Formats: sequence, C-alpha cells, structure tokens
Amino acid sequence: MNRKDFLKTAALLPLFGSAMKLPILDHLAALDDTAEKMPALFIGHGSPMNAIELNEFSKSWQVLGKNLTKPKFILCVSAHWETRGTFVTAMEKPKTIHDFGGFPQALFDVQYPAPGSAAFAKQTKDTVTSTTVGLDEQWGLDHGSWSILKHLYPAADVPVLQLSIDYTKDAQYHYDLARQLASLRNKGVLIIGSGNMVHNLGMVNWQKMNEPDYGYDWALEARSKMNAFILEGNHKELIAFKKQGKAFDFSIPTPEHYLPLIYTLALQEKNEAVSLFNDKALMGSLTMTSVKIG
Ligand code: ZN
Repeated sequence: MNRKDFLKTAALLPLFGSAMKLPILDHLAALDDTAEKMPALFIGHGSPMNAIELNEFSKSWQVLGKNLTKPKFILCVSAHWETRGTFVTAMEKPKTIHDFGGFPQALFDVQYPAPGSAAFAKQTKDTVTSTTVGLDEQWGLDHGSWSILKHLYPAADVPVLQLSIDYTKDAQYHYDLARQLASLRNKGVLIIGSGNMVHNLGMVNWQKMNEPDYGYDWALEARSKMNAFILEGNHKELIAFKKQGKAFDFSIPTPEHYLPLIYTLALQEKNEAVSLFNDKALMGSLTMTSVKIG
C-alpha cells in the first residue's frame, strides 16, 4: 500500500470503527429488554457418554429443555475449566472440546456448534465488580457444558459462554462472585453450574454400573445432608463443606465438581423455590443430583 492509499484507508477508519461497534450495542440493548426471569440450574453431568446416550438423566435434560424459555444466552460454570483468575469465553465460535480419553469415537465426533458472543462476554465481565474477569479467546465448550446442552438445547442455537473456576480461591469467594451474576437472570440469561456434588472417581465401583441408585454409605450420607441444606436454603453449611466431616471429605476429594453448585446456589433469591431432580447415586461414589432454582 502506498502512502496515499494508506491515508485514504486511515481516513475511513473512524467510520469503520463505529460501524463495527453497532452489533455489540444491539446485543447489549437486547439484554436490557424486559426478559422473562430465567431459573438457575445445577446439573450433575456424570459420564461424558451421557452426551450420546438416552438414559434417565439425558431424558430429563431433554424434558427440562422443552419446558424452559429460550434464553438470550447461557452462562455455564463447568467443573472442567479451572484457571488462575476468572475468565469468560469471548469468542464468536467456541470450539467443541473433547477433554477426555478412552471413550468411543462417536463421542469424539460430537460437535456442539452453538455460537459464542464477545458482547455478552463483555456484559458478563462488567457485571462482576469484585474482581477482573478476563476475556478468553482460547477455551471453548468442554464436555461439562456440551454433554448436557446437547440435550437441553439440541439445535445449538443459543449463544453459550463458559465462566472458569479460579482454583486458587475458596468456596466463599466463589459464592460472593456468583451473587453478582444474579442480575443476569432477570435479563433472560440461563446460568448453569455443571459438576457432580458427590464425585470421587478413584472409588468408583465399575461392577455396579447398572445397579440403580447405588451409593456407598458415605456417599448417601453426604447426599442426604447436601439435599437437606439445599432445600432449607442453608448455603452457609454448604460453603463450609470442608468442615462437614468424613462423608463430605470422601465425596469431595477435590472441589472442582462441587463448586459449580456453589455458583448456582448463590443465584437464589430470598424465599425463591428450589427443587431437586436426577437425585440418584451411581457406582458407589457419584451422585447425579441436580438443582433447579426458580
Ligand atoms: Zn465431570
């Protein structure tokens, strides 16, 4: 490009720049519309195979999806994205990440081509004031998101963003961060925590794969205590999961599958309805128990 052409191009830039911003403004305006308030969900995702199997869990996700209003966008806090600091995916076309090994090719062939949105990522970032949420261009959708969304919204026509879990922080920090996201529910945003409340992969009993609701004593004890705390709205005890004794210690050997629950609970308003579904133990040391708020 010669100097003259460069100057010509440069002269056009301001105009071009503002034209580029228009779609972003449209998005933000759309979020401010009086939208129907969305529920908040915690979903026990279990095995990645649930993405391609039709079983009691995936069927319930399909029914749930049919009964939900179509959200403006979905913000998913997946157990499978841990970072130092908090990030939100900001790319327009998030890739489907197959973040597992040893599964059939059919699972690796799954694509969930939902759009992302830089504008909604910015809106999410701006909603959180207690820390700086970074805009991420590298991640995409991991199986914590797409294995359930494939059943909830099979058309993949709702923008999906993921919010990472800062592995350096404790449960109270995550609860306080998530509370700031509550206003998004009133703008038509569906927030989903995706993990498993009881999740001890090292103790899985593969022989009991087909035995319905099979849980070890400690798993069942933890489940019933967790369920009671959730239904009572006693978030304090759930945040203090490390002080709940042996059953909780076995159930939560590492916190990443439990913390998405904390995000969901933080979105509950005073006296807002809460219900459980898929409340089943699996292979001794897992539960699929899921929560719907609102
Ligand atoms: Zn998982």
